Amino acid sequence: MAGLYLHIPFCKQACYYCDFHFSTDNRSHREMCEALVLELQLQKNYLDKPLQTIYLGGGTPSLLHPKELDLLLNAIRTHYKVTPTAEITLEANPDDLTREKLSELRLAGVNRLSIGIQSFTNDILRFLHRAHDANAARQCLEDTRATGFDNFSIDLIYGIPGLTKKIWEETLVEALGYEPKHISSYALTIEDRTVFGHRHKRGKLHPMEEGPAALQFEFLMDILVEAGYEHYEISNFCKPGYHSKHNSSYWRRSPYLGIGPSAHSYNQSSRQFNVRNNALYIRSIKEGTIPFEMEILTRENKINEYILTTLRTSWGCDMNFLKSELNEDLLQRHEQYISRLMVQSLAVIQDGTLKLTRNGKLFADKIAEDLMVPA
Ligand code: SF4
Repeated sequence: MAGLYLHIPFCKQACYYCDFHFSTDNRSHREMCEALVLELQLQKNYLDKPLQTIYLGGGTPSLLHPKELDLLLNAIRTHYKVTPTAEITLEANPDDLTREKLSELRLAGVNRLSIGIQSFTNDILRFLHRAHDANAARQCLEDTRATGFDNFSIDLIYGIPGLTKKIWEETLVEALGYEPKHISSYALTIEDRTVFGHRHKRGKLHPMEEGPAALQFEFLMDILVEAGYEHYEISNFCKPGYHSKHNSSYWRRSPYLGIGPSAHSYNQSSRQFNVRNNALYIRSIKEGTIPFEMEILTRENKINEYILTTLRTSWGCDMNFLKSELNEDLLQRHEQYISRLMVQSLAVIQDGTLKLTRNGKLFADKIAEDLMVPA
């Protein structure tokens, strides 16, 4: 299995919590698309398997004109083998998705949408500085269904200051009304290089306390599981058979190629990180050089990445794999700690695989950190 990620580094406006790489200067779409096509050509030998997933993320890929998306997807099909059943996902914001645009996306070959709804409450959307309002969110979901997009994911954020228990519950009930095949939901984190980060530093923003945020996460798990969704990764839920194949391949450590400024690539022994600057990226690609830094993964890096990613998933951390492939006996190293997790009903071991229980998922990052080996 191999995947391709394409980073579209433009947004209409900066959401106050976001530290992804993007620019709100939208004048260089064409130049950027040409550079992306060139990088696709330059990197065509990075993967040695056909593509089973293509993911256009960002930034905001739905800002691109359908002709620009066509250009990118055609370049992928020209330079790479793409399996006929490949999952092709596009991240989209509600304010970009008209019925006409949705139909054009389908014609271009996009077969999965990940829609940044985040909330159905105007006060919350304004607080986050999203470009859409609640009506646009609703309209877009109706249009998505009406144009035959069966496979779409709704993104929602919880743990936002001002997001009451009642609003969060109403948000989830409303989201379920659109029968999405997939829901991704993350707790708001305050990142340093964002408007929220600066406000927080100046004492002008107080994050939600851990207790109420954990209760919102618990409600999220309960209502979605009750509605028939599989909780297959800490922040991801799907109807049976509708896992995000692309994101699952990250968590299963399949190789992937990342194209575009700030995109990462991974080939199981190293990671590459493209430069996080649009102008530098375009200039360098035009000169025929991919501007990236590389990190060779050590045994310790591989063990820690494996623990961190797999413990967040429903398939869990295969301790036999760690032993046979990376010579790491997790059970022996952390015998007492793992026993304690089991006594406290935070984890179970099934066929040599360590899995977190519902309660364990509340502490996933802390447990993974405790199990890691010194780097
Ligand atoms: S959250 Fe999405 S739309 Fe908002 S700034 Fe970040 S990448 Fe752009």
